[in-house]
Amino acid sequence: DRESEAGGVAVVGLGRFGGQLAGALIRLGHEVLAIDRNADLVQRWSDQLDRVVQADATDEDALRQVGISDFRRVVVAIGASVEASVLTVLAMVELGVAQVWARATSEKHAKILAAVGAHHVIFPEAETGERVAHLIVTRMLDFI
Ligand code: ATP
Repeated sequence: DRESEAGGVAVVGLGRFGGQLAGALIRLGHEVLAIDRNADLVQRWSDQLDRVVQADATDEDALRQVGISDFRRVVVAIGASVEASVLTVLAMVELGVAQVWARATSEKHAKILAAVGAHHVIFPEAETGERVAHLIVTRMLDFI
């Protein structure tokens, strides 16, 4: 119900990024609904996450059936397929999700995500690369 899902987050895509994100949210005490179209991944994550469902997240009816409208926050963690990522974000926006976070793999991908209504666009690979560069430089200064 709406009350219990208020602090919950739905995560679409249980790849390396989405899987780690979902696990971290659980450890932070949030309810997580995870969605992936891959049955093997759904099976693998089912004992670590509260709710893991197999569904095609580009399908608005399927999202409605899993109760996505009860979630104020959704993270679209699909990276490789720009089409699946964009169609999923569009479906979330159409369903009225208040905060859609979307993973982009390029600047153009990010522009499309923003154009279809994503509220926050994230670049996990670029952000990690940048952070590690700073870490290396800081550590190097430690030895001067
Ligand atoms: P990562 O880098 O996080 O490992 P990836 O880029 O290798 O991810 P992706 O193709 O981005 O892999 O897919 C991430 C996950 O999203 C996969 O587990 C995939 O099954 C899932 N996924 C892709 N498209 C859909 C979709 N339309 N509906 C639901 N899940 C999807």
